Amino acid sequence: MSSGKLLMVGAGLSGAVIGRYLAEQGYDISIVDARDHIAGNCYSKRDADTGVMVHVYGPHIFHTDDEEVWNYVNGFETFMPYKNRVKTTSGGAVYSLPVNLHTINQFYGKTMRPDEARAFIEEQADTTITEPQTFEDQALRFVGPDLYKAFFKGYTQKQWGCSPTELPASILKRLPVRFNYDDNYFFHRFQGMPENGYTVMVERILDHPNITVHLNTRFTRDQAAEYDHVFYSGPLDGWFDFDLGRLGYRTLDFERFTFEGDYQGCAVMNYGEEEVPFTRITEHKHFAPWESHEGSVCYREFSRAAEPDDIPYYPIRQVKEKELLGRYVERAAQTDGVTFVGRLGTYRYLDMDVTIREALDTARAFLDAREAGTKM
Ligand code: FAD
Ligand code: UDP
Repeated sequence: MSSGKLLMVGAGLSGAVIGRYLAEQGYDISIVDARDHIAGNCYSKRDADTGVMVHVYGPHIFHTDDEEVWNYVNGFETFMPYKNRVKTTSGGAVYSLPVNLHTINQFYGKTMRPDEARAFIEEQADTTITEPQTFEDQALRFVGPDLYKAFFKGYTQKQWGCSPTELPASILKRLPVRFNYDDNYFFHRFQGMPENGYTVMVERILDHPNITVHLNTRFTRDQAAEYDHVFYSGPLDGWFDFDLGRLGYRTLDFERFTFEGDYQGCAVMNYGEEEVPFTRITEHKHFAPWESHEGSVCYREFSRAAEPDDIPYYPIRQVKEKELLGRYVERAAQTDGVTFVGRLGTYRYLDMDVTIREALDTARAFLDAREAGTKM
């Protein structure tokens, strides 16, 4: 017997994971997505010309410290060992990221040992900045002006469309500075790539008799009346018909090109300088080193301000947006019958592992609330 009818708006990780959890508890789950495919922004598909598995909405590397989440994804798909090693081109040379001892020694033409490099960078750093507030302050405090200009200033200007002095320090805090030769972009315990792509993983999460998926179906609020509860992973301001104004997003344009052989020798090559109009080039076949392909498909990635019909990729959490966000969040808290989830529903930059963690916690909280007879 069904425990109730629930609607998930969005067939990305948020909708799929919450839907699966509650389907297993006997709920009838309908999932709608405006796109013609599942998996949201993690969607991957084989390129028709080359056979390479392409990360259609930009490069996605799974990394986490959360063991439950790691076991969860491995329950649906085999994860192949994969370490993200990013390179960057700047000033006519190629360097390794995140900034590590190799980057520092190569950039300054030196052969410093770890302690020497630490002391050297500390000399470059602006130690008068005690509590960095902006992206620029954070960079000047931790790597100094030379590395900042070569690797971060231009890239960030392109990525966010504004000066790094207008961005919060938190954006740069995502990236470590290392005084050893470890060039693993992430420092999480678990890291990997789904053997057959993310779409297959999400397909299996959705494969449950209590789940029905409707693609090419845009949600409108009147649909909510048919359900006991809605989990909404669409844009938060969209639920309220943008009536307080639009939350800002950056969108991405991908320029696809093919190449016979190996174009750049790595999956992701960043471009640090502002004069190069794109931020990075992704060569997708390097995400699946266990496969073999003669041809190659690459995406040049350009970032710009999102117009209303563009895909919203990165929430811009500057002062103006935070104020508007606060007003929408207040209204969301007063709205019964819907839970706002995921990257768009909460207007936060969420990695996949955090998205899954929050989805599992949300589904459990929903069950607890039902048991206690409280509203959500
Ligand atoms: P989404 O994947 O955005 O899914 C939301 C779905 O809702 C979409 O399919 C959309 O079509 C649908 N929808 C929205 N509104 C409506 C509506 N009104 N009606 C019907 N359907 C609607 N994470 C990592 O861990 N590692 C990475 O390397 C990484 N790289 C990234 C690179 C880029 C360029 C981007 C943008 C993100 C990256 N992420 C990465 C983050 C990752 O994409 C997210 O964590 C994840 O996709 C969030 O899932 P979600 O379900 O919340 O949202
Ligand atoms: N960044 C940079 N240069 C680089 C890579 C990153 O300036 O070569 C900055 C940029 O502002 C970016 C932030 O560091 O938004 C975080 O980098 P990350 O690789 O985590 O970006 P994301 O995964 O969000 O694209």
